[in-house]
Amino acid sequence: MRKRLAHTPDFLYNKNEYRPNRSSALHVFVLVVLLLGAASIWAIFRCSSRIAASAHVTPPTLVIDAGHGGIDGGAISADGTKESDINLAVALRLESIVRFCGQKTVMTRWDDSKKTDILSYSEHEELRDRADLVNKTENAVLISIHQNCYPTAQPRGAQVLYSSYGDSDRLGKRIQELLVAQLDPQNRRLAAPAPSELYLTAHARCPAVLVECGFMSNNFEVLKLKENGYQNALALLIAAAYLEYISGNSLL
Ligand SMILES: [Zn+2]
Repeated sequence: MRKRLAHTPDFLYNKNEYRPNRSSALHVFVLVVLLLGAASIWAIFRCSSRIAASAHVTPPTLVIDAGHGGIDGGAISADGTKESDINLAVALRLESIVRFCGQKTVMTRWDDSKKTDILSYSEHEELRDRADLVNKTENAVLISIHQNCYPTAQPRGAQVLYSSYGDSDRLGKRIQELLVAQLDPQNRRLAAPAPSELYLTAHARCPAVLVECGFMSNNFEVLKLKENGYQNALALLIAAAYLEYISGNSLL
């Protein structure tokens, strides 16, 4: 997201900024190992059998949208990090995990190579193309990955926005719950309805959520968002929530 979301209360942040250290890195590493193990076990013993059992229903396909890309870098942090790069890194990890668990996936982009011509680029056309891809995917569920931004440096913390379609709120609230509980217990933000001006969630005719993983305007949060281990943890937790959502089982 480039702009502050109008519905995001100013007080919903705390001042306990993140400082990378050995124990936090170890925590993330252990979390990743545990979650990967849990996801593998769950995939083998529960996921495939339950979903296969309902073979008469078209299996869900997770459409993963790595927000922005190409000439559109999204929000840019003080150290020059592009939101689009963080979005893609998390999205690629999410795709790998969900596909590893035997589920179908579609990506709106796989790299940063498209849309590099400023003269021909149209943000509206790009978003329309992505919405078309979502809406032509049978039994789709959309997860769009973005980062937040604010005019001041203090606001921080992940926040999930969910569309008004179907039970999108169930998926969105579970992602928020897992991100807060496993990665950032001091984050007081709540999952919230997506504003109507968010094109993809507004135009997707399927369950859809947009995950703001953190704030590009908060230098300490950017340090986290750039870490491989933190990106893995974000992807694993989002994947776990998705697998729970499509199966009705509790994974974590
Ligand atoms: Zn964005």
